[in-house]
Amino acid sequence: MELGENVPAAQEPQDQAHGSIHDEGDWAKIEESLRKSIGSDAFQRWFGAASWGGASNGQGTVIVPGEIHQVWIETNYLPELLFAAGQAQEGLHKISIVVAETEATGESPTTITLPQVRKEMPGEMLDKRAAAAGLNPGYTFDNFVVGGNSQFAHAACEAVATKRSVGYNPLFIHGGSGLGKTHLMHAIGREILRRRPDCRVIYLTCEKFTNEFIEAIRKGEIEKFRRRYRSSDVLLIDDVQFLAGKERSQEEFFHTFNTLLDGRNQVVLTSDRPACEIKSIEPRLISRFECGLAVELQAPQIETRIAILHKKTAEWKVSIDESVLLFLADKIRSNVRRLEGALVRVATFASLAGESVSVQKVEYLLRDFIQEEASRQVTVDGIQRAVAETFDLRLADMISRRRPASIAFPRQIAMYLSRSLTHNSLVEIGECFGGRDHGTVIHACKKVASEIDKQPGLRERIERIEQQLRR
Ligand code: ADP
Ligand code: MG
Repeated sequence: MELGENVPAAQEPQDQAHGSIHDEGDWAKIEESLRKSIGSDAFQRWFGAASWGGASNGQGTVIVPGEIHQVWIETNYLPELLFAAGQAQEGLHKISIVVAETEATGESPTTITLPQVRKEMPGEMLDKRAAAAGLNPGYTFDNFVVGGNSQFAHAACEAVATKRSVGYNPLFIHGGSGLGKTHLMHAIGREILRRRPDCRVIYLTCEKFTNEFIEAIRKGEIEKFRRRYRSSDVLLIDDVQFLAGKERSQEEFFHTFNTLLDGRNQVVLTSDRPACEIKSIEPRLISRFECGLAVELQAPQIETRIAILHKKTAEWKVSIDESVLLFLADKIRSNVRRLEGALVRVATFASLAGESVSVQKVEYLLRDFIQEEASRQVTVDGIQRAVAETFDLRLADMISRRRPASIAFPRQIAMYLSRSLTHNSLVEIGECFGGRDHGTVIHACKKVASEIDKQPGLRERIERIEQQLRR
């Protein structure tokens, strides 16, 4: 994949005659420039293990160790990379990011090591072990539909589950309710058990962790509690936002967490919001949550919603008319659990009635779902109006090409809000803002996110617009 056009992601041989970057010095220059433009931390994380694959005819290749690096660099750092490469080597105008064919064998300092693969666990035994670990057999990578909304999170989860050594620790999966966080977490646990039968995997909700902790104190069995959780190889804790306001549980969790991380054991966490937005939680715990990799699950786009419905109907062996599936995918957008619930209702009705159901019938059957869904939706248009009103601008300024900061910045705020409050893709949002491209929307989101930390009162101002929109 690359910037500009599609070419096969193959590695070009170095072509000295066409001015390739062939010496270490040029790649070092690119690295130096990238480090400055994106910061050392991001550089180390995303380019630390990258290497130069050569260049020819103005096109360079960067080799990265995994799909997750590829997706992340393409989404976030392609312009910076291209700029840096262009400076090191004149005439370079395209970059492809390709995944190395063989897995890197050298261990980085942040790697964690899980027990060696012996042999895959046979199916029946796997089911037993998975159940003992608290895992739901229905949540696997096979039946998780990957879309643009989940591509990065999915790649991170697969990396944690399939590689013996990865540096994503903890892996922090966040996103709204019903978007597949728990599903992916169970899939990680199951896949690890399948590949490494010796692994001690434990899944539990944060609520259960807290309740067991209180119970252990009450019964004087705190040592047993600690031994159980601190000796796991992989600890999967769901919905950590539940720790908010529970000081003693936070303290216990903090130490469990540190013990596991120090022993290089894998921790995976989920939360319904980013770590920094969990209120009433100790800063030291938040910084622990943030020290690995955070990935977000967003609401799926229409194509993914349709693919999910197809997958579920195939799984349940029910046949529902395509027009009905399209109707459901169109009406229920914000939550896959609700989409699934709607499909169950339709499938049950169809099987009881013994006939195929029409769209009109479904509209009636699901009137409560549909009404609730409509009332939750914030639109880009609504955001543009609210922002224009707050900043005393004309609605037309939201789509105009005018650039004075007094107009451009509120416009960026409107893009930022569109990204976080609607289900539109970057491209769709760009279109609603006078046909801007998706890069402009990404830039706007980054700019607003960084200004929120710098400009006093900006966060509150944006929150007020959000509240107004949700009313
Ligand atoms: P969360 O933990 O984010 O609230 P869950 O993981 O419980 O959400 O998902 C809710 C339901 O939707 C589950 O039944 C799950 O299997 C299903 N689901 C969510 N995302 C997907 C997906 N991408 N593909 C298939 N099923 C999904
Ligand atoms: Mg969940």
